[in-house]
Amino acid sequence: MDVTRLRGIGVSPGIAMGEALLPKRVVFTSRKELIDEAQVADELKRLRQALDRTREDLVRVKDGVADKLGRESSFIFEAHLLILDDPALVGGLEAIIREERARAEWALSKTNIRYERLFESLADDYFRQRRSDVSDVLTRVYRNLEARREKERTPRKEHILVAHELLPSEAALRLSKELTLGVALDVGGPTSHTAILARSLGIPAVLGLRDVSRQVREGEFVIVDGTGGEVIVNPTTAVRREFQDKRERYEVYGRELQKTAALKAVTLDKVRFFPQANIELPEEIGPAIAMGAEGVGLFRSEFIYLRRETLPTEEDHYEIYSKLARGAHPRPVTIRTLDIGGEKSLPQLNIEKEPNPALGLRAVRFSLRNRDLFRVQLRAILRASEGANVRVLLPMVTEVDEVVEVKAVFEDVKRELRREGRAFDEGIPLGVMIEVPAAAALTDVLLKEADFVSIGTNDLIQYFLAVDRSNEFVSHLFKPLHPAVLRLIRGVIQAARKAEKDVVVCGEMAADTLGAIVLLGFGLRAFSMNPIFIPRIKKALRAVECRTAERIVEEAMKLRGAQEIEEYVTEEILLRHPQVFLAGLPAEAPKK
Ligand code: PEP
Ligand code: MG
Repeated sequence: MDVTRLRGIGVSPGIAMGEALLPKRVVFTSRKELIDEAQVADELKRLRQALDRTREDLVRVKDGVADKLGRESSFIFEAHLLILDDPALVGGLEAIIREERARAEWALSKTNIRYERLFESLADDYFRQRRSDVSDVLTRVYRNLEARREKERTPRKEHILVAHELLPSEAALRLSKELTLGVALDVGGPTSHTAILARSLGIPAVLGLRDVSRQVREGEFVIVDGTGGEVIVNPTTAVRREFQDKRERYEVYGRELQKTAALKAVTLDKVRFFPQANIELPEEIGPAIAMGAEGVGLFRSEFIYLRRETLPTEEDHYEIYSKLARGAHPRPVTIRTLDIGGEKSLPQLNIEKEPNPALGLRAVRFSLRNRDLFRVQLRAILRASEGANVRVLLPMVTEVDEVVEVKAVFEDVKRELRREGRAFDEGIPLGVMIEVPAAAALTDVLLKEADFVSIGTNDLIQYFLAVDRSNEFVSHLFKPLHPAVLRLIRGVIQAARKAEKDVVVCGEMAADTLGAIVLLGFGLRAFSMNPIFIPRIKKALRAVECRTAERIVEEAMKLRGAQEIEEYVTEEILLRHPQVFLAGLPAEAPKK
């Protein structure tokens, strides 16, 4: 048997090994089977029955998931039920049967391809992954066209789940804390539902492996290294032993880390810091708090638009924000207004393609051009702020006039709510993201208008160093420890401290051990990151003296290049606080 090693994206940490299980796939037909005019009515009935069965299934799955994982996790099936009842989708299916005189299978297949193309054409990963929600619903309907339905079997023995793709409902049904040891998929990324679910269930997972489902046969032995982003098929005994050792080290380390969630977030010299969570779905709030998050530092509200085909109403927004605010209360929740436009186009709107999307009509620029949409979002955020723990954050601000303009809209929306007698937090803080170098240089001025700043290092570094954050050809040039970047970030933190206003870092740099120590040395106290990194960063910061970090970064700032800085800080920390870097430390946060 040949050993195969495959590289993918580790989306849920840990090491798992066991026998592969490959669920059967539904294959949409590529054949257009025609029917007579007289059969059309029957075919429409057949489709309607399948839709009804699917609705029953979804309700059943939703309840099952709510029992197994909590109500928050079952939210996705509410979304699926909405997709299922969408008149445009159902009407479209019926129209194909009627107008093309074709079988329902063909209608579903054609519609699926149409949506696949639509989502594939979107440049943004997160948006592309939402394709699976529509596909999931259509697959279920397809399966339900058969009168005798195959019962969804859940496996009874421990296994590594290997598949091309797991649709959200399949993920929720098939991933079992007890039996699913690990997950390996051809497609998917860190923000896919499978990734989120695997993380919250603590199941190691590697996605984006391209062809793992073709490389592995049922029953073969597979190792899934969710920390290193690797899958090994038919490993030799020596490799198995190597990973067993690694797993043991990892488990000991994991247990240690989990304990840190309950510990106080203070450095060795008792300086208080605040680990917070970056999340995209309201159901992530519970697991984030369990990881030690002291609030949500960044809620990426884009997802609300992605999970649906129509524009979200104020009530849709409100339901999500109030769920978040209640779930986190009394901890703060920072809701970032729509960060979209440019390459991240909204499927619901006809956004024109721009020649240079990264520098285009995006984020707050988009919101200011689309006031009606913006007002709907602001109204919902305000209404959810009743418990006084909600903050608003504006993405991609470049100049102070944008903040002034947003504030005028915000005040107007507040007046409207007052007139309607609706309660909201009158003191709701409004913050600005520092993601454009110009904004960084203007921090003091911006803070005359805003209540806090949040540094988005992913975009800030991209724009400051002129290095595309998602282009692998230049990823070696994306350097958070570049001295120019450090000067810029230090300046922002110092300006905020001088103005006695809050400053948070919510880019990936906060989730990197060295990055976090440097930021601590600059005076940063609030670190917002993907919740899975919180225990490790918390442990690292608890193991250093803030005084030492300050001294080290002061010296480091005299150095000329990122590599020198990295080596210097690592050596100094190793010398003084070696506990920061434990042996067998899980991989660092991805550098975006
Ligand atoms: C950032 O740019 O650093 C950030 C946190 O925002 P996003 O990753 O959503 O662009
Ligand atoms: Mg950004």
